[in-house]
Amino acid sequence: MPADLAGKLVTPDDRRYALMRSTYTTVGRPAVVAIPESAADVAAALRLAREQNLSVAVRSGGHGLSGGATNRGGLVIDLSALNRVEILDRASALVRVEAGARWAQVAHRLAPYGLGISSGDHGGVGVGGLTTGGGVGWLVRYCGLTVDRVRAVEMVLPDGTFVRADKKHNPDLLWVMRGAGAGAGIATAFEIEATEIGDVGYARLAVAVDPAGETLQRWEQAMATAPRELSTAVTLVSRGSSTTAFITAVVASSSLDCVRDAVEGLLAIGDAEIHENRILPYPELIPLGHVDHNTGQMPSHTTNGLLTQMTADAARALVAASSGPDSALIQLRSLAGAVNDLDPAETAYAHRHQSTLVVASVFPPSARTDLTRTWRPVVGHADGAYVNFESAPDNDTRARAYPGRTGARVEELWRRYDPAGVLRPLDGREKRR
Ligand SMILES: Cc1cc2nc3c(=O)[nH]c(=O)nc-3n(C[C@H](O)[C@H](O)[C@H](O)COP(=O)(O)OP(=O)(O)OC[C@H]3O[C@@H](n4cnc5c(N)ncnc54)[C@H](O)[C@@H]3O)c2cc1C
Repeated sequence: MPADLAGKLVTPDDRRYALMRSTYTTVGRPAVVAIPESAADVAAALRLAREQNLSVAVRSGGHGLSGGATNRGGLVIDLSALNRVEILDRASALVRVEAGARWAQVAHRLAPYGLGISSGDHGGVGVGGLTTGGGVGWLVRYCGLTVDRVRAVEMVLPDGTFVRADKKHNPDLLWVMRGAGAGAGIATAFEIEATEIGDVGYARLAVAVDPAGETLQRWEQAMATAPRELSTAVTLVSRGSSTTAFITAVVASSSLDCVRDAVEGLLAIGDAEIHENRILPYPELIPLGHVDHNTGQMPSHTTNGLLTQMTADAARALVAASSGPDSALIQLRSLAGAVNDLDPAETAYAHRHQSTLVVASVFPPSARTDLTRTWRPVVGHADGAYVNFESAPDNDTRARAYPGRTGARVEELWRRYDPAGVLRPLDGREKRR
């Protein structure tokens, strides 16, 4: 064991191993988990893996759906000790967030300064995985994706070199780390332009969904004309042939009038009931209670697609996927707004014209093949995909996440910075060889 990693390596005979071996979705059996406390430690862990011929998995919060942040018989670089959150410049809202922090910790640390970062809907998700892939947060239409606000990345390349990527230095690396970072290097910290945010509006509604899915089309239309302060997430829950859309609405405003107006538009989409409607501090949306040890507690299979338009056929297919015999849990996330302000070539996340993200998941005993069957009628309506909601990334899903020129540039940069494929995000099966 290298001296510079003394006390920072956890092997199966260590009592910490049970809480370090797994991710949220996947029980792992790595030969060793390294817990670096600095970028130099990350480089030392990479060196150890090379010398011992161990495959490498990189973990920030361990909430990746593919389980690629653990492995069998390899080395896991667990960044959880790199979890500092600092204000670099309050006037420009520039903050530095280390990759191993969880988003609940970030929200609670920034709140006293009146700042927040739109990240995701779960406080346990890690900064590193989400911010190298995209980041569809509770305020996505108001703030854009998390990657849209990343101004610099501190990272260790697969050859152990430490670099800073920003607009002036290594702009190619900055580009790839904003959407396709997992295959280029190990991010240790991000500089992010946070948003001035205090209290936000929060409402929960339930709306009956007709089998033809017209309710979903009306939801999409309501979102198309809604102010960008409003972002919504919809979960379809079916019992027999009846389907209900549970809508969570978050409004980037502490004015009850503004929240009432935003919710008003949603009430018009169908036979709706309001379950909750209040103002709350932003960190309450992603509470510290979400932060937990990962023990493979949520085995699941997940896939996703982006919709440019909720056509009648797409809406019907979604209701069928939620209520059919091999039903999946279907979630919709409103996009557009600030997300679509960026040029598609500006970041490795290229999808800048779609309106909706659709995520489909199944849980044991359902298998990946059940999800594939249920998803088949939906996938033809999708226009691209988001890498972070895919539990079995392969060439096909990667081509949907990184289409056309974006895909070619991602591939070229992954090869340039990681020619040996040390970090190449493989599907869970391959990685756990
Ligand atoms: C309950 C839950 C809710 C979610 N909600 C949302 C949501 O609302 N919005 C959204 O956008 N996404 C959401 N996601 C998806 C989430 O963005 C991804 O799963 C993300 O990869 C998790 O980040 P992590 O750091 O916890 O992942 P990890 O499991 O630690 O890592 C996942 C993969 O990311 C790569 N990676 C991790 N850290 C680094 C790093 N520092 N440098 C380079 N590569 C790295 C590695 O390839 C790794 O295998 C959710 C996931 C879950 C499980």
